[in-house]
Amino acid sequence: MHIVAVDQGTTSTRAIVFDERGAIVASGQREHEQIFPQAGWVEHDAAEIWTNTRAVIDVAVQNARLEASDVAAIGITNQRETAVVWDRLTGEPVYNAIVWQDTRTQALIDTLAADGGVRRFADITGLPLATYFSASKIAWILDNVDGARERAENGDLLFGTPDTWVLWNLTGGVDGGVHATDVTNASRTLLMDLRTLDWDDALLKAFGVPRAMLPTILSSSEVYGKAVGTSLDGIPIAGILGDQQAATFGQVAFERGESKNTYGTGNFLIVNTGEDIVDSENGLVTTVAYRLGDESPKYALEGSIAVTGSLVQWLRDNLGLIKDSADVEELALSVEDNGGVYIVPAFSGLFAPYWRPDARGAILGLTRFANKGHIARAALEAVAFQTREVLDAVIADTNVSLEELRVDGGMVGNDSLMQFQADVLGVPVVRPAIIETTALGAAYAAGLAVGVWADLDELRAMWHEDERWEPQIDDAERERRLARWRKAVTRTFDWVD
Ligand code: ADP
Repeated sequence: MHIVAVDQGTTSTRAIVFDERGAIVASGQREHEQIFPQAGWVEHDAAEIWTNTRAVIDVAVQNARLEASDVAAIGITNQRETAVVWDRLTGEPVYNAIVWQDTRTQALIDTLAADGGVRRFADITGLPLATYFSASKIAWILDNVDGARERAENGDLLFGTPDTWVLWNLTGGVDGGVHATDVTNASRTLLMDLRTLDWDDALLKAFGVPRAMLPTILSSSEVYGKAVGTSLDGIPIAGILGDQQAATFGQVAFERGESKNTYGTGNFLIVNTGEDIVDSENGLVTTVAYRLGDESPKYALEGSIAVTGSLVQWLRDNLGLIKDSADVEELALSVEDNGGVYIVPAFSGLFAPYWRPDARGAILGLTRFANKGHIARAALEAVAFQTREVLDAVIADTNVSLEELRVDGGMVGNDSLMQFQADVLGVPVVRPAIIETTALGAAYAAGLAVGVWADLDELRAMWHEDERWEPQIDDAERERRLARWRKAVTRTFDWVD
């Protein structure tokens, strides 16, 4: 039997076919347009995303030479927080999807934070008030699209994160599409109570979001509905996890204290805290790790870094220093060290552990000696330094030190970065055989629900180490570099009023 995982990511949508051993059989992938209408705004065309989703499913199934009957279930994983609002009757989005990186709603966030601070809703949601999460994006659409608020109140408009958008369309859309999400995605909206796992009325009121437009919150592993159309007609959709939680699941970090770090457009470190809801005092967010059927949910602490892989894209697209993202490694290796250059990529402020919306990016330490090799090197080092700071926050919050860091995501093919990372952390970095852990996690959740795999132990047995990097610098050198980095970070504060 096979499982198809749909990974609706920030830059592209993929469908990956896995076999029962968790190996990749075939895949399909399509990028979608990144729409930047003005500084700080980031949008996607949700209709394009759905067209791409359908297309990549068909490509993957065809490449695998499968019939629908060879597929036991479909899993969905997705870019989180991104808000889509669409018309229930026509299936048309009323506005482009507002992407998680979008900061247009800062004024609304500031107004709400003026009364109680940014941690005003943290007790209930586990999250600080920030533009990052869905709630203020939904409010923006309701406030700025003609007639949207009234239609939402009448139940004519639906909201969803991309999992919900894909699920609704895949299960028939206007003809009876299932309007649901899973606990992990719901936990990123700033509208869900972490304890009840339901939408919270006080939060809905604060953001002005009508309950009628919200999806039903279900577990991460159960049958939500059956696919209608595409080459998977009739196949159950049985797993949904937000991308970072999916990667955690794919890395089989099922137990308290187990963790993973994903290197994609941004970086996301997640540490499983079991059934405990740990309140962070160090800039991490508290989130749902996963919930299997009606079992009790598992929670996690998460350190979210907005800009890591997208800094490499920026070197490629905005500076033209490289042709492909992977070329950054060769350019970085053209110099012996960073030459004193540091890049703090605070493009939309800084996320964890600083949460400074007022910060903006900077390149520091430039001299006449600095060249593009140093810039490339500083970019990779920025990824590693940011991860180190998030890990320090995890250790401070949990009092548990880390033995090693399990990594995955698009950037972990970069061996130099992995070595920098081990050096900066002072603990080994470990890459598993399958680095597509996001899709794998969604496949695992779906397969568990329909009995392809019996239990978590069976999944654990499928995890294999591929490569390991040991730290190669001493503590004094590590501290010296970190001190420089921290100094550079402070120079980016107070840039935006
Ligand atoms: P996402 O799921 O967030 O869309 P991926 O996990 O596919 O992202 O990772 C893609 C990101 O990784 C891109 O931002 C790209 O610039 C970066 N990337 C890919 N390969 C490399 C590499 N060899 N070195 C550095 N960065 C890379």
